[in-house]
Amino acid sequence: MSELETSPPQMAGGGRGWYRGDCHVHSLASSGGELTPAQLVADARAAGLDFLAATEHNTSETHNAWSRDADDDPLVILGQEVTTRTGHWLALGVPSGQVVDWRYGVEDSAIDRHLDEVHRAGGLCVVAHPHAPYPSGTFMYPYQGFDAVEVWNGPWSSDVPWQADNEAALADWGRSLTADIRQGPWRPAMGNSDTHLKDQIGVPHTVVLAEDLSPGEILAGIRAGRSWTAESAAVELLFTISAGAQSAGIGERLQTGGEPAVARVEIRGVQSGIVSFHTERGEVHRVPLPDSGSDVVEWHTSAADSAFVRIEVRHPDGHMAALSNPIILTVPD
Ligand SMILES: [Zn+2]
Ligand SMILES: [Zn+2]
Repeated sequence: MSELETSPPQMAGGGRGWYRGDCHVHSLASSGGELTPAQLVADARAAGLDFLAATEHNTSETHNAWSRDADDDPLVILGQEVTTRTGHWLALGVPSGQVVDWRYGVEDSAIDRHLDEVHRAGGLCVVAHPHAPYPSGTFMYPYQGFDAVEVWNGPWSSDVPWQADNEAALADWGRSLTADIRQGPWRPAMGNSDTHLKDQIGVPHTVVLAEDLSPGEILAGIRAGRSWTAESAAVELLFTISAGAQSAGIGERLQTGGEPAVARVEIRGVQSGIVSFHTERGEVHRVPLPDSGSDVVEWHTSAADSAFVRIEVRHPDGHMAALSNPIILTVPD
């Protein structure tokens, strides 16, 4: 793909493409939620989203309403936020009406059984807001068995005292990436709004490369890490690495054959922002964006120097605008 994704929101189906979605959404069936599924569906469309996941706290009672009110625009993935005593997680892609048990904590050794239950149904298990500062909000389980980590939950940073600490979640994830990529599997990052109120949906959301706009293909894209997180639909990012005649996109492995590698980022919609490149050595390169917020930025490396490269784009005040999963660089054994 040589151009940024600029297509408008699409109906279900649609073929291979980048799709924008928010996988952590509560209606008034969740404590603190104030909106109906129909209102949230309309807000999701207005925010430019192609899909959302309905993740009420520990209930499936709104599954039917979500599916009916969305009518596939946006595509609705049925899910649940499982609020255990020692951390919350998202079950994405559960059968209609299924409820996953939440009545345990890390000391009960019960989590694996419930992750298996969701995996057997074809679903994904996502660590939710691992550093949320309220009782049961801090995630105390090992990440083993989970498919992805919600490193960005709601606005990047705010004055609200219960706001998740996204900087801490990102630092944890970035630190574990080196070992995880060597040993496999590595867990992709994602971002969701955790919407309860008006005007929260889509801030942020995950942009996924999927073979089709269907629950199975969207979840496959998230699981593979073929995704990046955007603070809004105004932000566009395309990240590829090429070496010799080969190239790879976000979440993919690039066999460089020992050739030099060029990491290339196209960005739009982040006025006076800062693009930074991150590897197992931490931040290795940063470039300011012009006032227009659009630019193409390149950085040269090799598989010997970088086992992976991932991208952050921040505003001048440090708040995140976009965050990519890594591209992994390998050489022949
Ligand atoms: Zn939660
Ligand atoms: Zn939530």
